[in-house]
Amino acid sequence: MSRILVIEDEIAIADAVLYALRAEAFIADHSLLGREGLLRLREGGYDLAILDVGLPDMTGFDVCRELRTVSNLPVIFLTARSGEIDKVLGLELGADDYMVKPFSPRELVARVRARLRRVETLAAENTSWRETGAFAHDIAGQRIRFTGTELSLTRYEYLLLAALLARPGAILNRERLMADVWQDAPETVDRTVDTHIKTLRAKLRAVDASRDPIQTHRGLGYGLKV
Ligand code: CA
Repeated sequence: MSRILVIEDEIAIADAVLYALRAEAFIADHSLLGREGLLRLREGGYDLAILDVGLPDMTGFDVCRELRTVSNLPVIFLTARSGEIDKVLGLELGADDYMVKPFSPRELVARVRARLRRVETLAAENTSWRETGAFAHDIAGQRIRFTGTELSLTRYEYLLLAALLARPGAILNRERLMADVWQDAPETVDRTVDTHIKTLRAKLRAVDASRDPIQTHRGLGYGLKV
């Protein structure tokens, strides 16, 4: 399930884009301001960002420039001007695509899909194991290793651990985990998160009993110590 952040100060445009993305089963979040959006992108967990160039507090280009110091996240710019300068600037910043307003939200979603497919293809070609502390995650192959041992996980255990692994050290509350992991089964009751955390813990303990990487933050949620 791909997660997209839309940074756009025009509510009507943002709403149309969010609606189009969610209709195509993307998880879509919204920031009105560049600074706030940048903070969220830096926290990680996003697969792509849609950046309005003309934001009230900083330009979309500035957001992208700062983001590029820490991340290669795919970026699609939205611009109100069709001038070449915007395009060149955008592309020099490592933007992957841009759209000139007014645009069709459906066309934007198609571009999003194309970018993500390309990222997936590259990932599959590299069959990359991304190492995070004691964990290694093959996102394309949906496999996770813990201290070198590949874990045998159910679908929801995998999605849960992947969600924690995407934001190591962060405290993720149940609502957030439910949204990430159980999106296709919204009727599931809250404590399902706890149940799966329990079985996950047991599987991790079976690999290395000396570590207990899943931390419970009472009343707040869970986090992963890598
Ligand atoms: Ca704007």
